[in-house]
Amino acid sequence: MKLRVTGLHVDGKKGRLELAGCNLRCPYCVHTNLPFYTLTIDTIFERLEGIESIYVGGAEPLIQKRALIPLLRELGERGVYITLKTDGADSRALESVLPYVDRVVIELKGDLDDEIALKTLTGLDDKPLKRYIREFKRSIRLVKNKKTRLWIRVIPGFVNPINFRKMLEEIGEVEEIMLYQFLSDPSYDKPFGEHNMKPEWELVEELAVIALDFSSKVIQYGDNHEIKVRGV
Ligand code: SF4
Repeated sequence: MKLRVTGLHVDGKKGRLELAGCNLRCPYCVHTNLPFYTLTIDTIFERLEGIESIYVGGAEPLIQKRALIPLLRELGERGVYITLKTDGADSRALESVLPYVDRVVIELKGDLDDEIALKTLTGLDDKPLKRYIREFKRSIRLVKNKKTRLWIRVIPGFVNPINFRKMLEEIGEVEEIMLYQFLSDPSYDKPFGEHNMKPEWELVEELAVIALDFSSKVIQYGDNHEIKVRGV
C-alpha cells in the first residue's frame, strides 16, 4: 500500500509525516498545491525506525485512510506516540484511526451556524458544506475523551469575541486550545480576496482570555513565531 506524501522528516526520536490532498478547499491554504511523491508504507516504516513519537498532518491525512490505518496501527504497536491533525470532515475515517492515535489536533474553521462564512472559509458548496458541518460535530464528539487540541485560525471578519464564545459553548471543554494569528506565518496560510490583513494581536489576546473559560491550556501563535501559553 502507498501514501501520497509531501514531507517525511525524522529529528532524533521524533517523526513528522505530511500527507497530500484534502477534502476542503480553503482559499488561504498553502498545502494542497505542494508537490508530492508516493511512498510504500514499508518504506515509511524503514525511514521511521527508532522514533518514539510522530506528528501526522498534511493537508488532510484521513483522505488516505486505507493506507493510513495500517501505518498507524503498526506504529502504535511499536509504542510510538501518535499525534494526528485533522479537519474533522470525515468522522468515520477519524473513528477508524482513533484506537491507534494518542492525541488529536482538530481545526475549527469558524462558526458552525454561519453557513455563509463557512462557505468562504472551506470553499465548499451548499450540500458538501452541510455534510462537513454534520461530520465536524460528530468528529468533535468522538475526540472528547482523547487528548485534544482545538486549533483556530483568527481571521478578521470571521472570528470575533461574540461568535468565538458561542463556538466554544457549542463545543464544550477541551484539553487545549490554540489560536493562530492569520497571516503571521507564510508556511501556514496566504491572503485571499480582500482578506489580506493580520488581526491585531490584541484580538488574539482577547480571544485567549475567553478560551480560558473552556480549556486549562490556551496557546497563542503569532508574528515571528511568537508563542504565548496561558493556563497551566
Ligand atoms: S487549510 Fe487545511 S483543511 Fe483547508 S484545504 Fe488546506 S489542508 Fe485542507
